[in-house]
Amino acid sequence: MIDERYSRQVLFAPVGPEGQRRIRASQVTLLGCGALGSTLANTLVRAGVGRLTIIDSDRLELSNLQRQTLFDEAQAAAGAFKAEAARERLAQINREVEVTARTERAGRDNLARLVGRPDLVLDATDNFATRYLLNDLCVRDGLAWIYGGCAAAYGVCMPVLPHETPCLRCLFPEPPPPEHAPTANTVGILAPIAHAVASLQAAEALKLLSGNRRAVRPVLYTLDLWDSNLGTVRLAGPEPDCPCCGAGRYDFLEGRR
Ligand SMILES: [Zn+2]
Repeated sequence: MIDERYSRQVLFAPVGPEGQRRIRASQVTLLGCGALGSTLANTLVRAGVGRLTIIDSDRLELSNLQRQTLFDEAQAAAGAFKAEAARERLAQINREVEVTARTERAGRDNLARLVGRPDLVLDATDNFATRYLLNDLCVRDGLAWIYGGCAAAYGVCMPVLPHETPCLRCLFPEPPPPEHAPTANTVGILAPIAHAVASLQAAEALKLLSGNRRAVRPVLYTLDLWDSNLGTVRLAGPEPDCPCCGAGRYDFLEGRR
């Protein structure tokens, strides 16, 4: 029996009742609950995922409200943990979804335990150190994940299906130096780019979770909203000489980097 709540999503033929049942049975881990994360959490909880784990150790600040749509002034004034403030709000949106908030800081030693064994991991972090750890973990454990990043008015999104599509190190074998990896804290950010990137990630997530894995293509989406530029770079398969998914070396996760 499909809830009236999801009727328009179910009416979309590639989802249908079977896709909705799969979405409902799915478990998702969200790493980060800032601009990308709050939009992703909002969208996936409304879509009816079964379980959502939100990992974020930050507390809310007033400067978050410009783009982090789940939160309000009272939560910012109280300095609430983002993960917990999100869980409270999400319970008002869809109480059928089991949301778990984890407020530990994710690092090499605890990432595997925090992420668990979900059907999908969503990258809503704001730094490459954590992303390269996440790429290692997901390739090692065969977990699908979706890379998302944004700053200023530009952003990127790329789904990673380990050993099926290129991983992060296939594209960028080394993380960029910090001076070439601007963040919202260094160059600012416009809310629409965060929402656009998170929406692309959410669309890829719904393909996977509804059982439409073949609709997930090996692509890198690039967006620059200020230059009115939207691009899709079609990627070949995984790089045979990738240190991670090719050679099976998890340099970041194992502390060699
Ligand atoms: Zn790779």
